[in-house]
Amino acid sequence: ERVKKIEFVKQHVRSYPDFPKKGILFRDIFSVFNDVEATRTLDCLIADHVKNLQKPIDAVIGLESRGFLFGPQIASILGVPFVPARKKGKLPGELIRLEYSLEYGTDVMEVQKESLAGKKSVLIVDDLLATGGTMKAAVDLATSTGANVVECFVILELADLKGRDKIPVPCHSLIVYD
Ligand code: AMP
Repeated sequence: ERVKKIEFVKQHVRSYPDFPKKGILFRDIFSVFNDVEATRTLDCLIADHVKNLQKPIDAVIGLESRGFLFGPQIASILGVPFVPARKKGKLPGELIRLEYSLEYGTDVMEVQKESLAGKKSVLIVDDLLATGGTMKAAVDLATSTGANVVECFVILELADLKGRDKIPVPCHSLIVYD
């Protein structure tokens, strides 16, 4: 049943070769939302997973920008706050910042200090795990605040890029591309 649901949602993820640049096979999570049944099935799969987490969670961190599509929903199911992690200069107030390296150069990820104060255990969510660089940065950022990352949760995983090998905490994906 669960396998059928996963296959059904996967059929609704459109793939675009050479987007946004040559050599990238873009997996478009938005195409799922274009179909009501696929959207509801994905909602069910997400709810089933997060309701069965065996450890307590104090906050859900969602990564800009497609992690924002799922984070608030997961936080609501768990009954905890949602915390956005954003690129440099997007969030107001006092921030916690982490600089991380990309293929070319560096990037900066930020969260609001207040929003993670006293949060011992967090779950981090994004739409897709590719090389794992983004998720690794988020784990490091959360850890730097003193939080324990219970799980990194993504909807889509590109397994051949071995992103999960970079992540020092448990990582769960719903739909895997080999
Ligand atoms: P990475 O840091 O390489 O794991 O990349 C993950 C981030 O980039 C996620 O926030 C994804 O939304 C986006 N991303 C990377 N590769 C793809 C892809 N092939 N299709 C769609 N989104 C991607």
